[in-house]
Amino acid sequence: MDTSSIKIVTCNNNDIKINSYVLTYQNYSIVIDPNNYEEIIETLKDTKLEYIFLTHEHFDHILCVDKLREYYGAKLIAQKLTSKNIQSSSKNLSKFSEIIFDFMKKTPKYKINEISVNSADIEYDDIFKLEWYGYTFFFKHTPGHTEGSSCIYVGNYLFTGDSLFKNINTSFFGNKKLKNDYLNITIPFFYSLDKNLLVLPGHYESFLLEEKLK
Ligand SMILES: [Zn+2]
Repeated sequence: MDTSSIKIVTCNNNDIKINSYVLTYQNYSIVIDPNNYEEIIETLKDTKLEYIFLTHEHFDHILCVDKLREYYGAKLIAQKLTSKNIQSSSKNLSKFSEIIFDFMKKTPKYKINEISVNSADIEYDDIFKLEWYGYTFFFKHTPGHTEGSSCIYVGNYLFTGDSLFKNINTSFFGNKKLKNDYLNITIPFFYSLDKNLLVLPGHYESFLLEEKLK
């Protein structure tokens, strides 16, 4: 699939340096993991935001979901456990933001308000497919970093959220089941994909899948 007419902009002007991605085709757009409302609105310009996709339930990836939905009437697509967990401030970790920022050595002391996001408009279990102006987006549940983590791919692009980074390992928050799921489900999934995919992760820089899997 030739995805050269989809424009992808990375928005990462936010406190925890998460990558929100804005995908535009003609006058239509999609946002993946929306964090900073102002930056995303500015990037969307006058396109019509139709969908919001989530790679997982953590607060830094969902901060302005409801604001965008309200403003644009966009539909939220998420794996069903992510859809459930975004509603809880302890599951989306916003309840512990102070501890997390402290751990990341954010000074001066910093925290965000606890948030709860409404459940997704479209939920899926293991896999899901969305047709969008001739492009097919594939969604795959890839548990490990969280129970609801997913990857999304279209054409040459693979959006991994916090499930795959170039230079650091994915964290499992000390959860043994999640670590096993990652080894048994998610890693084999990565190996099943075309190695030339460009990985667009939830933090840090993009890279070719083959660089990571070699
Ligand atoms: Zn995360």
